[in-house]
Amino acid sequence: MAETALLSNFIGGRWVESTAAEHVDVTNPARAVVIARTPLSRAQDVDAAVRAATAAFAEWSETPPVVRARTMFKFKQLLEEQFDDLARLVTSEHGKTLDESRGSVRRAIECVEVACGAPSMMMGHGLENVASGIDCVAMRQPIGVCAAITPFNFPAMVPLWFLPFAVVCGNTFVLKPSEQVPLSAQKMFELLDKCDLPPGVINLVHGGQQVVEAICEHPGIKAVSFVGSTPVARLVYRKATNAGKRVQALGGAKNFIVVMPDANLDRAMPVIAESFYGCAGERCLAGSILVPVGDSHAEVRDRMVAAAESITVGDGLEPGVTMGPVISARHRERVLGYLDKGVAEGAKLVADGRTRAVPSDGYFLGPTVFDQVSLQMSIGREEIFGPVATVAPVKSVDEVFTMMQQHPNANATSIFTSSGKAAREFAHRATASMVGVNVGVAAPMSYFPFGGARDSFFGDLKVHGRDAFAFYTDQKVTITRWF
Ligand code: NAD
Repeated sequence: MAETALLSNFIGGRWVESTAAEHVDVTNPARAVVIARTPLSRAQDVDAAVRAATAAFAEWSETPPVVRARTMFKFKQLLEEQFDDLARLVTSEHGKTLDESRGSVRRAIECVEVACGAPSMMMGHGLENVASGIDCVAMRQPIGVCAAITPFNFPAMVPLWFLPFAVVCGNTFVLKPSEQVPLSAQKMFELLDKCDLPPGVINLVHGGQQVVEAICEHPGIKAVSFVGSTPVARLVYRKATNAGKRVQALGGAKNFIVVMPDANLDRAMPVIAESFYGCAGERCLAGSILVPVGDSHAEVRDRMVAAAESITVGDGLEPGVTMGPVISARHRERVLGYLDKGVAEGAKLVADGRTRAVPSDGYFLGPTVFDQVSLQMSIGREEIFGPVATVAPVKSVDEVFTMMQQHPNANATSIFTSSGKAAREFAHRATASMVGVNVGVAAPMSYFPFGGARDSFFGDLKVHGRDAFAFYTDQKVTITRWF
């Protein structure tokens, strides 16, 4: 592909030009160099994709599940063969380190592997003699054209939270990846093109807000999955449910990491630092508020500062780099804005990411630590989505539960402790739906449900795991008597 190629959509089994009049540049954030251009497709491009997907549905939904699963076995094989290239592409367009990209591609492949279990996972259930001589069976059937809209922070993994599950269940599919990181999706569609999927089963439409709105409104789309910030998740949920669709919309996060006085800090602190600064803090499961309980405060804060100072910031493709840039110049400005706000609001800046030596040509920012943060401050309340740790010491664990109750987001949380009793109580009372015990990033594997609560999740059925097979199917019950 030429360096600044304008990307094509993939519709009806062919690469086709978007009708876009505008585009956005895709930038390698470690170099501030434009590497591609994303067309801002329009409603007619979505309509073309939905028409192709609708036409393909009749045959695909009747294809035996085991045959559908075989296409995903092939996709897995191609992903394995292209593993390193795909990981490098994720780093080039997103900025995370190559190790982090490899981890995310591994997780992406695991989604494909789990989806390959469709012939078992889609099975219904039945009972003989619900009344004398009458049998009853419940079967799962695909629902139609499904769409997913994905964010910038996991360019390969998040699209595969949806596509393989939708497809093995017999649905046809439209993906709109983030316009900031479209290249991993583009590459995965090149691989999918070799997987014996009939034309129209999978479709890729590049773009931004206009494409999202068209997806929410299109009467041909039966289900919409969204992952992104809370305001857009809420908007998509409202619009798409108003249009009668099944919707799961995953939003933003502000994750509490709680350190009890009995925590093993030698083991815990590297894991905690990774939670805050891994992927430059651009993870919906990233630690955001560090809450030392009781007299652990001073040591936890000092160790966090030391961990922040030991991080090597640079181009994620270079060996030895442990933190890459943030996604864009605009996002860097936004994160810097929070540093100013934190100082103005009275938090104590104990490690200042602005003063770290970082390469000059990308969107780099050193890791920051604020101490004495409260939920009344914007840095304690709002999602920063950058390498900024906010330390909010409390006297007792009950204060942590109060803070959680006061916070609108409830995605993930973790506790570090040596006490089984404290861990059990924490897991039971935490408002978040993904809980870690001595684990910094509580990311459920693809055979478990993924998704938060409150303003971090709008919908009923969560992502991957058994919920995926429920989300992508309807249940039909047949009651039979033979005379
Ligand atoms: P974003 O909300 O800006 O964008 C997400 C998607 O929505 C993109 O495809 C984008 O094109 C589209 N979009 C953006 N603005 C829109 C608008 N006004 N109308 C319609 N569509 C719009 O999110 P992002 O910056 O790409 O990703 C970061 C956010 O995603 C963070 O808040 C993070 O917490 C969240 N996230 C959540 C999860 C989760 O599992 N809950 C996972 C990953 C990321």
